[in-house]
Amino acid sequence: MASPDWGYDGENGPEQWGKLYPIANGNKQSPIDIKTSETKHDASLKPISVSYSPDTAKEIVNVGHSFHVNFEDNDNRSVLKGGPLSESYRLRQFHFHWGVKDDYGSEHLVDGVKYSAELHIVHWNSAKYSSFAEAASQTDGLAIIGVLVKVGQANPNLQKVLDALKAVKTKGKKAPFTNFDPSVLLPSSRDYWTYLGSLTHPPLYESVIWIILKENISISSEQLAQFRSLLSNVEGDKEVRINHNNRPPQPLKGRTVKASF
Ligand SMILES: [Zn+2]
Repeated sequence: MASPDWGYDGENGPEQWGKLYPIANGNKQSPIDIKTSETKHDASLKPISVSYSPDTAKEIVNVGHSFHVNFEDNDNRSVLKGGPLSESYRLRQFHFHWGVKDDYGSEHLVDGVKYSAELHIVHWNSAKYSSFAEAASQTDGLAIIGVLVKVGQANPNLQKVLDALKAVKTKGKKAPFTNFDPSVLLPSSRDYWTYLGSLTHPPLYESVIWIILKENISISSEQLAQFRSLLSNVEGDKEVRINHNNRPPQPLKGRTVKASF
């Protein structure tokens, strides 16, 4: 089987993505290091409003470099509104990024501080586009909520997700994942930073309105280790763990990061 054309190590790692995906060196790439002294409070930013219906939760899938929890997105039962958004964005999936060890793994940094993992809740602009696939490459196509995850106390709200991982050990495996409202994973404060950026792995489209929450959530070291127990190989092939899947921060290139607080 051919190896994928991008990954997180060595010859197809993040430093090499630009060879096949020139946008890797574009002007609006993600993630970034959020330098709080350079962020600008914007009084016109509205609070974010999430309204997720647990019955839209559909399945969990091992995609080889991570796992996705996918949602039914054929109507507006689960949406993100407000914040920096002028339209309603429909929930599509959530996933995590993590590192080899507990002391790094987040994609976004805050004042140079690396967190242990990062949750991404992905939404697409259903007011303007007809599908996630269509929206994914448009400048106002996607809105992603990012939540920094800090190692510490066990997080009971993550348990259902962690328990589902054993059913999707290898690449391509899928299992039902139903009756789940991902807003249980959000911190209590909805203060956020927002900026215009990109998908953090190929195809790296510059199509994302990022909403990074200021407050982080916790995960225990044991819980975090369960992410790394997933395998990037298909069943029956040599076992290769998904040890890390976080892209390093990219240059800001003149962009402004706005703060809601
Ligand atoms: Zn992500």
